[in-house]
Order: sequence, then structure tokens, then C-alpha cells
Amino acid sequence: MNVSVVLFTADLRLHDHPPLRAAADGDRQVVPLFVRDRAVDRAGFAAANRLAFLADCLRELDAGLRERGGRLVVRSGDVVDQVCKVAAEADADEVHLAADVSAYAHRREERLRLALAAQGRRLRVHDTVTTALAPGAVAPASSDHFAVFTPYFRQWSGRHLRDPLTAPRAVRVPDGIGAEALPTRDGLSGVSGGLARGGEQEGRKRLSAWLRDGVAAYEDRHDGLAGDATSRLSPHLHFGTLSSVELVHRARRTGGPGAEAFVRQLAWRDFHRQVLAARPGVATADYRTRHDRWRSDRTARTDIEAWKEGRTGYPVIDAGMRQLRHEGWMHNRARLLTASFLTKTLYVDWRVGARHFLDLLVDGDVANNQLNWQWVAGTGTDTRPHRVLNPTAQARRHDPDGVYVRRWVPELTGLAGPSVHEPWNLRGLDRAAIDYPDPIIGLSDGLARFRQARGRE
Ligand SMILES: Cc1cc2nc3c(=O)[nH]c(=O)nc-3n(C[C@H](O)[C@H](O)[C@H](O)COP(=O)(O)OP(=O)(O)OC[C@H]3O[C@@H](n4cnc5c(N)ncnc54)[C@H](O)[C@@H]3O)c2cc1C
Repeated sequence: MNVSVVLFTADLRLHDHPPLRAAADGDRQVVPLFVRDRAVDRAGFAAANRLAFLADCLRELDAGLRERGGRLVVRSGDVVDQVCKVAAEADADEVHLAADVSAYAHRREERLRLALAAQGRRLRVHDTVTTALAPGAVAPASSDHFAVFTPYFRQWSGRHLRDPLTAPRAVRVPDGIGAEALPTRDGLSGVSGGLARGGEQEGRKRLSAWLRDGVAAYEDRHDGLAGDATSRLSPHLHFGTLSSVELVHRARRTGGPGAEAFVRQLAWRDFHRQVLAARPGVATADYRTRHDRWRSDRTARTDIEAWKEGRTGYPVIDAGMRQLRHEGWMHNRARLLTASFLTKTLYVDWRVGARHFLDLLVDGDVANNQLNWQWVAGTGTDTRPHRVLNPTAQARRHDPDGVYVRRWVPELTGLAGPSVHEPWNLRGLDRAAIDYPDPIIGLSDGLARFRQARGRE
């Protein structure tokens, strides 16, 4: 036996791919395998936007492998059954897999290890494929993970990152391994009209453009809603068409405060992953309970619908929610504002908002989504858990001319400058002439209710 299987999961690339390099180096044959895992569909994670982006990624991965003499083998079903079948068909002695952090990923790894061992094959799991630093690589003396970002980042920054690997020059796939057709975007319903294109080539182009034209101004401009001056690399990091190890190295090489601020965000990604790896239950349970008794009655349900539809009467909140629906992506500042509005101003359970985001976000991912929602709700790792963001003040600060709001809330395009953030204050405005709702709640009422609920009157 001189054959390896490489199971691709959230690492759909050829560059800087330790499992593929380990499998292809030497004179070995490789079966590059992707399994359309039915359990992921059943768990409700197969959102249309991510399936569309995934189809692009698989097509490019296959094309890249073909340029190197290989191809991608796609199967669907139970991931462990399919890996074992392919390994048996190819008479492979080992299977390579990238380590991942969710409870599901841990179970998958364990099931694979046992099933392969029963066939006399070995599972080789590789760290630092889906993160820059492995979860647990740095930890405080008293715990298995960091609960606060700043000390985590201090240690993270001091650690040596491995060098990025080049893509393999050739990939030799054994004959006779059956494969299904590659999935396509055709026939998927509910895909956002403005969804970005996926795939490794696309990601690498975007990364080069970002390092050339964007990253230098990141520190000053990343919070600006209208400028849209963030990298938009999150879907590529989610699907692993780009490697965070490579991103950190290349960003650092450009130097300057913009690159440092960008690298800090990549460390946030690792931070949430080390929390989830240590506490897999926080995908659904509070990391730190505040004993909330979230609203769930009929009026709460009406509020939730208004929030999802982008019709709360708070223009910046509605702009964010509509960007999410149209692009399958939302600016980070808008994510913070819309999440704070739902959990604190409307006092609705963070799980309701996290589910809606996961239904639409192309970068929707358990570690980043659930733990950012918990951070905003004050049940997570934020050291100021009871702070409430004021959407109007925040809009004036981060969208000073109202450009972002007018882009996404066309009903308000006739309103000039920052006045667009408070349409209810405009004297002489014919409210009946614009189809835009009054605020569904007064901010001071929402604040008072939240403070009372958290015992902080
Ligand atoms: C309520 C809420 C939900 C979120 N859900 C997700 C999600 O499902 N998936 C996701 O990737 N990000 C999520 N984020 C984090 C962040 O908003 C996005 O990563 C970011 O907006 C992506 O845009 P970008 O690639 O242009 O980011 P940039 O500003 O260019 O940052 C570069 C990369 O750093 C990472 N990053 C940036 N901010 C964060 C953060 N706060 N936490 C963790 N990693 C970060 C991302 O991988 C991002 O691509 C969420 C944030 C909030 C407040």
C-alpha cells in the first residue's frame, strides 16, 4: 500500500495545506476526497449561501488538482462510511485530516479513528490548517483556555508560526475510484443576489488586492460602515480557501499599524476557536450565564420578525439586516449593532439571532458566530457584559454622512446627510409619503427593561 486519502473539510485549498503535502510528498498516490456530509444538512447548517459558495470552492479545488494531474473525488452520505469505503477501494494505508474545533468535528475525528483502525488504517490529524495557532497551544496556568482576549493575544503574538507551504507540484490519483458529479449553484433556492464568488483562486486574488490596496488603512477605516474597508476574506477563512497561517505571514510582511490591526482580528478568530474547543457546549449554552429570562411572547415574536425583515424603524439596524439578506454577509460594525439591538434593546435570546445569521451568512460558522453573539449578549467573554450600544449614536459615528443607510434603505434616499439616522426627528417631513416604519421601541424603554432584567437599575 502506497496510497493516502486526504479528507478535505473546512480547508478547500492547495496552498499551505499540510495534510495534502504530507500525503503527496514522496512517491505516494493520493485520493483527494470531499464528502457531502448528510449530518451537516440534517443539523440545519446547509444554508443556501454557503452551499453556493461551497460549490465554487469545490470546482476550483478540482480544477487546481487537475492542473497537477489529479482530481477531486466527491461523495455524499455518512462521512465515516464514505471515507472507509474510499480508503478500501484505493487500498490506502492512511487518511489525513485537518483538526477542527466543534463538538461535531471532535466526534467525526474519533469515529473516523476507530473505524479506520478496525480496517487496519491510520488517521493522521494535522494542526494549524484551520487556525494559525492550534487551540491549547497557549493556555493560562489555571485553565485549559483563555477566557479573555487581551492576555490570549499577548501570548499568541509571541508564538512562532510555522512557515506556509507551497502547493504540491503533482498529485497522482489512483485509477478506478468512483466519484459523483461536482455540486453546482444551479437549482439552489434562496441564494442572496449579491453573494460573493468562492474558490481558492478568487480568495488569493482578493487577498493580494487587499494586501496591496486595503490593509494599510485598516486600522483607521475598518469601523466605517460606508467605506466597507475590511478585507471581506471571512468566507475564504471559513471554507479554508485561504490559510490563516499564510495570511498572518503575508500581512506582517507588509508592516505598519494596519497590518498589525488586521492580524489582531485573525487572532480573534483563533481565540474563539480555542474557547469552543475547550467548551464545545457553548455553541448552544451560555458561556457565563446572566440568568436571563429572555422575551419570547407574541410581542417578542413580532419584534423578531421586524428585526429579520429590516423594518425596526432604526435605519442603521435595518440597513445591516438588509445587507445580510442581500449579500449573505454583513459589516462587523453592523453585526455588533444589530446583535446588540436584538439581545439588549429588544431583550431577545442571542440564540434566535445566531440562528438567523447562520441561515444567511456565507461565513456563518459555529465558533465565530455563536461566540460573537454571546460576546455581544454579555453571556460570553466580554469584560463589560451589560453595555448597550446606542444605534443612533453609533450610526452618527460610523456612518457620519448616512451613505451606508441610504445604500440599503432606499425608502430613505431622499433624506440628506446624517439626518437619515433619525427620520422621526425631521420637521416638516411628510411621514406618510415614505414607506418606512416608526421605531418599534424607544431606546430608553429598551435600556430600562434590559437594566432591570440584569438587576442593574
Ligand atoms: C454577532 C456577530 C456574529 C458574527 N458571526 C461571524 C461568523 O459567523 N463568521 C465569521 O467569520 N465572523 C463572524 N463575526 C465576526 C466578524 O464580524 C466577521 O469575521 C467580519 O465582519 C468578516 O469581515 P472581514 O473578512 O471583512 O473582516 P476583517 O475585518 O477584514 O477581519 C479579518 C478576519 O479576521 C476575523 N475576524 C474579524 N473580526 C472577528 C471577530 N470579531 N471574531 C472572530 N474573528 C474575527 C475574520 O476571520 C475576518 O475575516 C461575527 C461578529 C458578530 C458581532
